Amino acid sequence: MTDPTVRLADLTTLRVGGTAHTVVSPATPQELIEAVGELWASGEEVLLLGGGSNVLVGDDDFDGTVVRVVTRGIDRVSSTSMPDDADDATVRLRVQAGESWDALVAYTVANGWTGIEALSGIPGSCGAAPIQNIGAYGQELSSVLVSVEFLDYLTGEVERIPAADLDLGYRTSALKAGREGLVVSIELDLALGEPVALEASRGRHAIAVDEADDTSDPMPAMTALSAPVAYAQLAGALGVDLGQRVPIAALRETVLRLRASKGMVLDANDPDSVSAGSFFTNPIVTENFARALPEAAPRWPVDPEPETTVLPLGAVPTPAPAREYLVKLSAAWLIEHAGVGRGFTLPGSRAAVSSKHTLALTNRGGATAAEISELARYIQTRVMSEFGVRLHPEPVLVNTAL
Ligand SMILES: Cc1cc2nc3c(=O)[nH]c(=O)nc-3n(C[C@H](O)[C@H](O)[C@H](O)COP(=O)(O)OP(=O)(O)OC[C@H]3O[C@@H](n4cnc5c(N)ncnc54)[C@H](O)[C@@H]3O)c2cc1C
Repeated sequence: MTDPTVRLADLTTLRVGGTAHTVVSPATPQELIEAVGELWASGEEVLLLGGGSNVLVGDDDFDGTVVRVVTRGIDRVSSTSMPDDADDATVRLRVQAGESWDALVAYTVANGWTGIEALSGIPGSCGAAPIQNIGAYGQELSSVLVSVEFLDYLTGEVERIPAADLDLGYRTSALKAGREGLVVSIELDLALGEPVALEASRGRHAIAVDEADDTSDPMPAMTALSAPVAYAQLAGALGVDLGQRVPIAALRETVLRLRASKGMVLDANDPDSVSAGSFFTNPIVTENFARALPEAAPRWPVDPEPETTVLPLGAVPTPAPAREYLVKLSAAWLIEHAGVGRGFTLPGSRAAVSSKHTLALTNRGGATAAEISELARYIQTRVMSEFGVRLHPEPVLVNTAL
């Protein structure tokens, strides 16, 4: 299906972007592979677009073809590579790229399958999820992703790439870092949640789990427990300790509530959700550099602690080679302490920092990509001059630069 002349602003959650003269939406995986393969072979510029929730698209017309990834399908597949006992406890899903990520999470939660419940409410498509290894509230795609089916731009071949070969890291992957291609589908391994009686779970958390949509397997009297809660704010909101499990639907509802309070779920009635989510990633710096920052600046270790080794009695320990440890800083803290608060806007601009979350840049109505970029650059400059830290944008910049 081809749409002539479409405003890219209508296809992105930031609602900015110039006109595209050709937009195609192939309906099946085979049609998608063929369409993208032919476009690449023709030398035309191609923009792959899922939900448009992680892009900043420039104001100029896009001189190429936009391929909207809308292919659907969730299949339960066998995982023959796993031992039988592991197989029993694992659900392997193959999901076509155009499926909505949050609809997938809702479906897995309704079925009591755990592993992505804390990723509830993240907008966009399943095909884009590996691009920046989506993550939130203590879970990341990398912990469940098995492989991606991939049409490689360089070879023109479709291959299955194991997750281990994708360099998945904090909001990054080989695919974001330059390996060009089309994610056709993804495969995930989820765990069968430990069953718990529905009545018992109601006593612990007042969340109705029987409101699941009708795509779920019937679970009349039982529900499942989530994966261990791995994020302090989420544990606090659930009233449990870190590491505890809760009924999986309760975890999803609580994540959605927390996200809504920060403008981090798409909501037509919330102007703070007209964004690309977090606009900057949390910077990663050396521990030495971080020492020079104010004591109050939050920081988390990135590298694992060195392993403990047991030396035989009398052995002389060899000194460990000196190495620099990396720490992750809070971009939100740095921005706020550089003097840019929630709701901040430059004079005359229609771009503003979200009134609920310092990390999100929002379009307050009619903003251009240039206005979003101007605000982003201003924030980068303030943080650089105050703390000497360079903030990097999280969304993919298309037809524009900061
Ligand atoms: C309100 C809000 C909250 C958010 N919260 C989070 C969060 O908590 N955690 C998080 O990690 N992200 C978050 N995001 C960012 C975003 O939702 C995710 O990155 C999401 O995975 C993007 O999916 P998409 O389909 O919208 O991608 P798009 O924006 O359409 O595309 C993003 C990039 O992926 C490429 N791409 C898209 N589909 C494919 C494909 N099939 N094959 C190859 N390349 C492809 C595009 O060309 C582009 O470069 C948030 C965004 C918003 C608006």
